[in-house]
Amino acid sequence: MDLPKTPSFTLPGKRALVTGAGRGIGLAAAAALAQAGAEVTLAARTLADVEAAAAALRAQGLAAQALSLDVTDLTRMQEELDATEPFDVLVNNAGTNRPSAFLDVTVENFDLVMNINVRAAYFVAQTVARGMVKAGKGGSIIHISSQMGHVGSARRSIYCASKWAMEGFSKAMAIELAPHKVRVNTLAPTFIQTPMTKPFFEDEKFRASVVGMIKLGRIGEVEDLMGAIVFLASDASALMTGSSLVVDGGWTAE
Ligand code: NAP
Repeated sequence: MDLPKTPSFTLPGKRALVTGAGRGIGLAAAAALAQAGAEVTLAARTLADVEAAAAALRAQGLAAQALSLDVTDLTRMQEELDATEPFDVLVNNAGTNRPSAFLDVTVENFDLVMNINVRAAYFVAQTVARGMVKAGKGGSIIHISSQMGHVGSARRSIYCASKWAMEGFSKAMAIELAPHKVRVNTLAPTFIQTPMTKPFFEDEKFRASVVGMIKLGRIGEVEDLMGAIVFLASDASALMTGSSLVVDGGWTAE
């Protein structure tokens, strides 16, 4: 009897780019992809961070290199990425948050968050997708969105706007790129312990309110996302595009 065979969760021979890979979720995504066999380029503004991360991966016998890149500098970003071999996988992760009461939101903070979470993420995806289409081998684009791309939350009107925008362009990209076998999905995590969220959780009341919303009763760790990253990057998700993988401990179930 011929039993169905589980598609591969490994990524041998694949080239992956992770933006914002110096720490937090991006670093975990880079480690996950490298451990699955991909050759990973880790990009961030702070070259020392990505160099240290790439060196740590290489020390484990994995394939990794660092790239100094500010994704908001669109001209330079396009030049840098056009100068590399095309990628098979993009983890479009660089992003930020400036929590603020809606009535107090400043134009400066609105522009700062939208500039990186929407404008830069959109054009990084376009640049990498052009390379994928030209290479003609297909690919997987993973946008790091958020549960806040599916719901609303107090003090997060800019962040929600940015991640709902990402969910929107991800779906539109998926439709246009499907004929080229380029899959486009988002990963939508709940609150994860990272350098970005560390200051938020110093407020004990806020921390308790977050844990109260996560039905599994704990804040996420970056390791909670690593399996999802490998799944979305690999043939295991071959029929998945235009979708969102929500890893939220049950936050949005209610
Ligand atoms: P983080 O700890 O602040 O790390 C962000 C990374 O992005 C750093 O490596 C940073 O390095 C890089 N980065 C920032 N601005 C950049 C730029 N202009 N160009 C290139 N790289 C840049 O953030 P995180 O918590 O891991 O979050 C990563 C992503 O996950 C974001 O898109 C965030 O919205 C999303 N997310 C986070 C959570 C959470 O709870 N942590 C939940 C859902 C979604 P440099 O400063 O050196 O450039």
